[in-house]
Amino acid sequence: MLLEQVEYVRPQSLDEALEILANDDGAAPLAGGQSLTNVLKNRVASVDVLVDISALGDLAGITRTADGGLSIGACVTYDELDRSAEVRQSHWMLGEVAAHIEDQQIRNKGTIGGNCCLSDPTNNLPPILVALDAVMELRSRSGRRSVEAADFFKGYFATALEPGELLVSITVPQMPERSGAGYASLAVGADAKAMVRAAARVTLDRDHATIVDSRVVLARVAHVPTRDAEAEARLNGADATDDAVRAACAGVADGMQPITDVHGSSEYRRQMAKVMARRAVDQAIAAARGGRNGSSAGGN
Ligand SMILES: Cc1cc2nc3c(=O)[nH]c(=O)nc-3n(C[C@H](O)[C@H](O)[C@H](O)COP(=O)(O)OP(=O)(O)OC[C@H]3O[C@@H](n4cnc5c(N)ncnc54)[C@H](O)[C@@H]3O)c2cc1C
Repeated sequence: MLLEQVEYVRPQSLDEALEILANDDGAAPLAGGQSLTNVLKNRVASVDVLVDISALGDLAGITRTADGGLSIGACVTYDELDRSAEVRQSHWMLGEVAAHIEDQQIRNKGTIGGNCCLSDPTNNLPPILVALDAVMELRSRSGRRSVEAADFFKGYFATALEPGELLVSITVPQMPERSGAGYASLAVGADAKAMVRAAARVTLDRDHATIVDSRVVLARVAHVPTRDAEAEARLNGADATDDAVRAACAGVADGMQPITDVHGSSEYRRQMAKVMARRAVDQAIAAARGGRNGSSAGGN
């Protein structure tokens, strides 16, 4: 189906974009346009004005923050994340997850901001951003606020964004020394979307023998990326060995009620969440030991 006629504007500044969004309830930001235009073509939603934010300088670029973290503009594409020397140097796994999204055409246009603001539970970037303790920087005509990634995703295609607000950038703090990240997905069938994902971050002690801090984030178990606090508590203080990680991950998702859908039952998801979490934690430990902050993202 073709797009219905819709007004298109290309503001020259962030302030101009925020002004348009504040004054018109029917205006929507257009970033990579890959999801929004499909939604509009399929008549699932309608907008009066498409506000093209893709060329705004305030939403572009990746810079190093004073504390060694990253500030990533909302309109940075997956391809830019993949190719960024800054990202690869300090947050290898974030670049790796971006590098595994679909195909080159999608990676050329899809933006980190669009990926998050859509809040499609199958999207790749939200779980790794939660695992990395990322913070979403929001602006509206009336001010700015910061929302932790863990609180940004509110539900199926729902976020903490208020009407008239834009995600401007994402701050990813520097990881502590001896930290690494991992990411694992399960998709059943060729070209299938992931049924379960896990992202992990661990920090090891000086001897690289004990896990001192961890994040275990599950996606597609609930409609939003969800930290498994019980699994994290079991990992913190555990030996960084296969047996100890396997034992800690055996209870992953036991305190949750995974969704059932056409792709898999609740119980199947729970079992696969344990496997994906173990793989992600194993990768994170290897990365922390190897001095590289992540290894292969492995699939969609
Ligand atoms: C064929 C195909 C395959 C795909 N495969 C994958 C995949 O494997 N993994 C994956 O993660 N994704 C996948 N996607 C989704 C794709 O990555 C989209 O690009 C992404 O979901 C949205 O990013 P976008 O930049 O295109 O945003 P848009 O489509 O422009 O916007 C999406 C939504 O977010 C809002 N929005 C965008 N930016 C902002 C902002 N800065 N502030 C506030 N609101 C904003 C828009 O108003 C809109 O509601 C696929 C898409 C297609 C078409």
